[in-house]
Amino acid sequence: MIRTGDAILVLNAGSSSIKFGLFEATAAGPETRLDGQMEGIGATPHLIAHDAARRVLADRRWSGPDVADHAAALAAILEGTGQALAGRRIAAIGHRVVHGGPDLAAPVLVDAAVLARLRALVPLAPLHQPHNLAGIEAMAARFPGVPQLACFDTAFHRSHPWEADTYALPPEFHARGIRRYGFHGLSYEYISRRIAAEDAALGAGRLVVAHLGNGSSLCAVRGGRSLDSSMGFTALDGVPMGTRCGQIDPGVLLHLLEAEGMGTAALTRLLYNDAGLKGMSGLSQDVRELEASARPEAARALSHFAWRVRREIGALAATLGGIDALVFTAGIGENAAALRGRICEGLDFLGIRLDPGRNAADAAEISVAGAPVRVLVRRTDEERMIAEHILATLARA
Ligand code: ADP
Repeated sequence: MIRTGDAILVLNAGSSSIKFGLFEATAAGPETRLDGQMEGIGATPHLIAHDAARRVLADRRWSGPDVADHAAALAAILEGTGQALAGRRIAAIGHRVVHGGPDLAAPVLVDAAVLARLRALVPLAPLHQPHNLAGIEAMAARFPGVPQLACFDTAFHRSHPWEADTYALPPEFHARGIRRYGFHGLSYEYISRRIAAEDAALGAGRLVVAHLGNGSSLCAVRGGRSLDSSMGFTALDGVPMGTRCGQIDPGVLLHLLEAEGMGTAALTRLLYNDAGLKGMSGLSQDVRELEASARPEAARALSHFAWRVRREIGALAATLGGIDALVFTAGIGENAAALRGRICEGLDFLGIRLDPGRNAADAAEISVAGAPVRVLVRRTDEERMIAEHILATLARA
């Protein structure tokens, strides 16, 4: 059981970073006491942590070998934020786990059987799932006896109708787990709950949420439930990303493998690491750098990104039978005003009309007053969503 005043730790391990949060259980829900991240694990490690008033609690850099892997990163995070933990009872630890498979539609308390089940899903998310599970094991060793919860990026999408969940393959492939799982679910769940808390009628309506960050996807949400998403079997599908290609004709892959003799390791590297904004521009995955660059390839990469996101908004609006609000979130969605403007160009036919001044100011609502579709900018908070799940799950347990 969690008591008021108890602490909840949340870890969100990515391929080269760990985001974390420390929350206090209160009668009104979890309150953030500390958040931060360790970036550049193994390359240019940088730990930054803030307290609830956004004061810097830790800001430290290492050389790559000094924080060479996720285990070293966790140790450095616990050391760097130790003062904030001192004297607190850690009642539970929550983890973002990328894959919950076809069945796990809600957070689960981790035990040996659950861990084995999640390990069996590693082949479905080889670049993320092992880091998530390593984080669970490291925290179990460091905080023995403290309940650990796994919260899945795929869970929110388990409400998809069969048509959105399947590929056009014989049914046995679906039965074998070759499905359109969808990802970024904790972000979509957080955003749709927040919209519903602000405006119940809008929360019951039709939303297209654009989570645009290093990883990017879009989600159609109806009545607070996911109806469809641009991502599928893996986090490669959908719109182009920082370094991932997004949707690509599978015939291209067959051609590269067979006609050009590319090996699977080289193909994996191309699709996950050397494609997307970085691959197209030959410069960077960071929108700020691309916007500042005079290289035509940088401008073209941004232009293609805007084109593909716009196309996805139209497709998801069609699955919803219309759209009441478009919500931008994550690093690009929250900050890249010019790109938001370009994405929305030509969407007037759907009722999407941006107010340039509000858009430039990253206002909470960036559509013109009275437009048929509200266009909103909201900060996502996956760690907070996990903390909310922990309170709800352990209160029930
Ligand atoms: P992750 O998917 O790793 O959580 P984020 O959601 O933090 O990533 O998004 C990171 C990306 O957001 C950066 O690579 C950059 O492209 C973009 N970004 C962040 N701040 C800005 C800004 N002020 N202007 C334009 N783009 C930004």
